[in-house]
Amino acid sequence: MREEEFVEQAKVLMHKKDHIRNIGTIAHIDHGKTTLSDSLVAGAGLISEDLAGKKLFMDFDKQEQERGITIYSANATMVHPYGNDHYLINLIDTPGHVDFGGDVTRAMRAVDGAIVLVDAVEGVMPQTETVLRQALRERVKPVLYINKVDRLINELKLTPDEMQKRLIKIIEGANVLIRKYAEPDYQKWAVKVDEGSVAFGSALRKWAISFPYMKQHGITFKEIIDRCSNNEHEELRKKAPLYKVILDMVIKHLPPPYIAQQYRVGKIWQGDANSEVGKSMNLCDENGKLACVITKIVDDPYAGSVATARVFSGTLKGGQEVYLVGQHRSERVQQVCIYAGPKRISIDEVKAGNVVGIIGIPSAFSGETLCDPSEVIQPFEAIKHIFEPVVTKSIEAKSPKDLQKVVETLKKVSREDPTLLVQINQETGEHLVSGLGELHLDAKVERKLKDMGVEIIASPPIVVYRETVKKAGVAVEGKSPNKHNRFYLTVEPMPQAIYDAMVAGDIKDMKVKKKDAELADKLRKLGMDPDDAKSVLFVMNRCMLLDSAKGIQYLNEAMELIKEAVQDVIKEGPLTREPCVGILIRVVDANLHEDAVHRGPSQVIPAVRFGLKNTMLKAGVSLLEPKQTIRIDSPQEDMGSVMKEIQNRRGEIISVDNELGAMIMKVKLPVSEMFGFEAALKSATGGKGFYFLIDVTFENMPNELLERVAKGIRKRKGLDEALPRPEEGQ
Ligand code: GDP
Repeated sequence: MREEEFVEQAKVLMHKKDHIRNIGTIAHIDHGKTTLSDSLVAGAGLISEDLAGKKLFMDFDKQEQERGITIYSANATMVHPYGNDHYLINLIDTPGHVDFGGDVTRAMRAVDGAIVLVDAVEGVMPQTETVLRQALRERVKPVLYINKVDRLINELKLTPDEMQKRLIKIIEGANVLIRKYAEPDYQKWAVKVDEGSVAFGSALRKWAISFPYMKQHGITFKEIIDRCSNNEHEELRKKAPLYKVILDMVIKHLPPPYIAQQYRVGKIWQGDANSEVGKSMNLCDENGKLACVITKIVDDPYAGSVATARVFSGTLKGGQEVYLVGQHRSERVQQVCIYAGPKRISIDEVKAGNVVGIIGIPSAFSGETLCDPSEVIQPFEAIKHIFEPVVTKSIEAKSPKDLQKVVETLKKVSREDPTLLVQINQETGEHLVSGLGELHLDAKVERKLKDMGVEIIASPPIVVYRETVKKAGVAVEGKSPNKHNRFYLTVEPMPQAIYDAMVAGDIKDMKVKKKDAELADKLRKLGMDPDDAKSVLFVMNRCMLLDSAKGIQYLNEAMELIKEAVQDVIKEGPLTREPCVGILIRVVDANLHEDAVHRGPSQVIPAVRFGLKNTMLKAGVSLLEPKQTIRIDSPQEDMGSVMKEIQNRRGEIISVDNELGAMIMKVKLPVSEMFGFEAALKSATGGKGFYFLIDVTFENMPNELLERVAKGIRKRKGLDEALPRPEEGQ
């Protein structure tokens, strides 16, 4: 198809909301996502079919090519004929390495459906689980594509019967995960062979089939096996072209935006569903007020930075002024465009329900909400990764002349990837960057600076901890410097059911304005006392502040300051100044001066901080350490040496299986013991062992280690090494 023709068609289809699909491909690394995307784009006629698969069209970033893995998501818009009509498909490619999982989560915000791609030989792998979990958390509907079926036939020489068994096992494996991570209303999203929400084939050879397609075209397993063994891929491709089978499946089984937005908006946007913009998002109304969310920022040598955004309501035009809700400022969009791999095609406007490239909003960051300056809307939910950053490095410029460049680059990478946390200390020049793992920091920060020719000094990786209380504590009085105000707060461990709901994202960080009936109802259902459930002031970091004081004069007037002080302590706990987690805090009593002049910020804030910190210390503060659950694959005969590596690192073995002569072990290891683990595993297995991340959790630290670790953190932060003891009075 010629470019002009494609653009003309795309423009028309953009209005037809039932003719659009926004999709992403998600998979474990090396399962063939890039090859699939290339073949789909080629099928839609945008690159020559012969080049697809060889050219790795979607993998265009230099760093990606060097590493041979996909790091940044690239996009492509395609036009596909189906039935008597044409459909517009916006495909977002996503990275497969879990250390870069932030990109996957963000891409899932932009799409409504996902092709879950699984390698037929390897089966469901750890990253299949993590990416599927991220998709389902954004209410993105999956279909399954089992790839590399040619290898089952040509290399493993499976019979039709064995092949069917293997495919069924993979389908069941994928459905186990869908049932595990989908909310109750979306259990129906389990994939079904007979309905055609499963396809299998070879992305490399560009053919694929689904059960309905086989029936419709009279293709049998035997024919596929025969043709594939005889290298007749060309014939198979003519009979069952990959792009047709996959894109037909996408159109039939994945939802158009106007349907998906009806159930997705409630999950990703907490504003009022009955407001004008709320209704317009639900309807995916192109004439409504503008509401977009940015899901990616990439640097472009010609255009500056280019933002990818999903338009949920309204129409975005080139030249239009937009308001960036998080940045509290307006900027002018220079150009809007649609994607064809590395190529951007500028168009006049993009309608609700589509994915768009935007040039000319330099302050934008991933997760930012865009709206009309005349109608500022509630921002979209923060795009959160399923894992929190657990590793920090301090990064400095070797030469003072590069200081500014380092600061600017760090600010920029944290705008691009919200899973990277950057703390810049203007005074000391120390920059702390936290990420999901060493490789994440290396690829997104250190290499980037090196590529710019900036020499840096990076500290060894530092583990991020959390502070919590294991038992309830009575209030220690917090007295203001002028002695006219006293505050009493208590702490207790967050009840497990509520904590679990916070981890699952069902209870989110929030400030409660007036009364929040929905939150109160949720908390009551999780077993909280009804009065308590109504008195929540805020939720933050899986901690909660309740107003449990009764009839105290002037308390309401001081409440904003109390909240601020409590938040300070949650951000920096009393033991090691690491963030707090899992604490239920109550204001139980207070005495306040009648004159507001005597209960200003400089009085209330230190008093509340002192009271809360010492209440916690008195109850006993413990540390939680991050642990990674991983899957290790290694040769059977190296089992002994691998076990030894795990035991030496305080590891816990969850399961050991044997598959085709390889040992597959699931273990849990403290992150603090994991530095250098990859090299140790390689040397224990003669280079044959490798591992994948499955989950990251924060867990109690053994008592015998607590003191040593806490002192170590204090020393690193330049604090008095001795652990603080609770003080009474001030
Ligand atoms: P990604 O990491 O998921 O993007 O995977 P790639 O698309 O880069 O593919 C990884 C490797 O698998 C490459 O060497 C591909 O050529 C190969 N590959 C992809 N699809 C197939 C397939 O259907 N059959 C075979 N035999 N190899 C494939």
